[in-house]
Amino acid sequence: MTIAPANPRAGSPPVENAHLIGGEWVPAASGQTIEVINPATGQVLANVPRGTAADVDAAVTAAQAAFPAWRDTNATARGALIAAWARLIEQHEAEIDQLESQEVGRPHWGPPPMARILTFIAGQADKVSGLSLPTHSPDVLGLTLREPYGVVGSVIPWNAPGPMFVNDVGAAIAAGNTIVIKPAEDAPLTPLMLAKLAMEAGIPPGVINVVTGYGGEAGAAIPVHKGIRRMSFTGSPATGSEVMQACGKNLVPLHLELGGKSPQVVFPDADLDAAIPAMVNSITLNTGQICAAGSRVVVDRSVHAEVVHRLAEAMGRVSVGPWHEKVQMGPLINAKQHARVLDYMRVGEEEGAELVLGGGVPDGATFEQGFFVEPTLFDQVDPKMRIAQEEIFGPVLSVIPVDGEEEALAVANGTDYGLVASVWTRDVGAAVRMSRGLQAGQVAVNAALGSGVIGGPFGGYKRSGFGRTMGADAVLEYTQVKTVSLRGTA
Ligand code: NAP
Ligand code: MG
Repeated sequence: MTIAPANPRAGSPPVENAHLIGGEWVPAASGQTIEVINPATGQVLANVPRGTAADVDAAVTAAQAAFPAWRDTNATARGALIAAWARLIEQHEAEIDQLESQEVGRPHWGPPPMARILTFIAGQADKVSGLSLPTHSPDVLGLTLREPYGVVGSVIPWNAPGPMFVNDVGAAIAAGNTIVIKPAEDAPLTPLMLAKLAMEAGIPPGVINVVTGYGGEAGAAIPVHKGIRRMSFTGSPATGSEVMQACGKNLVPLHLELGGKSPQVVFPDADLDAAIPAMVNSITLNTGQICAAGSRVVVDRSVHAEVVHRLAEAMGRVSVGPWHEKVQMGPLINAKQHARVLDYMRVGEEEGAELVLGGGVPDGATFEQGFFVEPTLFDQVDPKMRIAQEEIFGPVLSVIPVDGEEEALAVANGTDYGLVASVWTRDVGAAVRMSRGLQAGQVAVNAALGSGVIGGPFGGYKRSGFGRTMGADAVLEYTQVKTVSLRGTA
């Protein structure tokens, strides 16, 4: 199999019809392939292997073979290889950005964060350390060692394939593990390209193995494989629960990141000039297909009318179209997601919410081919409605009016999820109380989505999942602790 030059304009994977097992670009054991679709046009971008349990087994075997040498590679050298990978990604930034844009259908966001993420992780590799412990006797030393698990497994979604891939793979291999990862069927090209660059950077064969395929086939085969020592899953709660049950049967520890229904709490004294554009961006970025999307505006009744008016105005200005047309919002990822989001729009109206803006597919021939929807704003949403409780994963914003801080907090916390929460206020007392009171893994005051913290651990409370990525903790989570007592001989 030859390695073709990456040609993201044509939507090529780095190697046609091949995924990466033990450093080799190979087709699926079954010989079958799956199509990757351009969500803006419905056309086929590329074909990738339809991996199954046989491919996962081959990948785990390769990862097991690579593990001892990688574990024993000194941590500074591991970090240097990850840093080299980051630099190569930086050199290929434009190509990677186009490839990811094309398969996800998102407009350009600015420089892709993958190099930055890996640079941070590279610096963590040789800062994993244990403790020295007191002992009962002076001739004994007590130590803890943090050691890698061995072969770890990961399944990632399609909404941000590049960042998801490097976050998980980077942290796993920095700690000395080797990994078998399955990207989403809808967005496997960016992960394959990133894996190719990892090989070019000198990360040894078998350390990173990418098996493409369907979730129910390749994905489901990972947590049940006897060689897997730890599992990580990002995606929907329904699939997360299935993966957790598989891990339960196989007694494999698990990290889960399952999305959210993140509230934007707006107090009467909020700086609306800052809040409105940030809130609109938070629900339209990536067409609302972001786990951290601020999908509920919980607003004090005293400013409610003004907030709705200004949200409608700002959302109405969001341009929609194919990613290469310099628009702000592209299509949804696939036909299933398209139908699902349109269904939620219908449900919102049926439930009696007030449709202020959008609610369907934009008019025009461009929008008939791809999976486009309008930025959609519902007002007078009751906290019990489905559009206030369930993750829609589309550009649908629900405004819930409330009276006072206590009700705002209760409504903000009143879902199964607990990923991100924003508070907009100039009152430091309210900001402190809300920061403590909000049940979410991340709280942003006067900010939405990523608020510019470097190395902030990211993860969920409640049914948004457990475990943390992105911070220094992410590398530690890929280690297990061994206590060593060392008695000196006479
Ligand atoms: P999903 O089914 O949870 O998919 C996520 C990943 O899991 C994909 O790689 C998928 O493979 C794989 N998968 C599916 N079934 C599996 C199984 N039985 N065992 C192991 N892996 C399996 O999510 P989706 O269907 O793509 O999207 C549905 C909803 O999930 C969205 O509307 C959204 O609410 C939520 N979601 C959340 C996030 C997040 O960042 N938290 C990301 C994506 C989706 P395939 O690609 O082949 O299905
Ligand atoms: Mg799926």
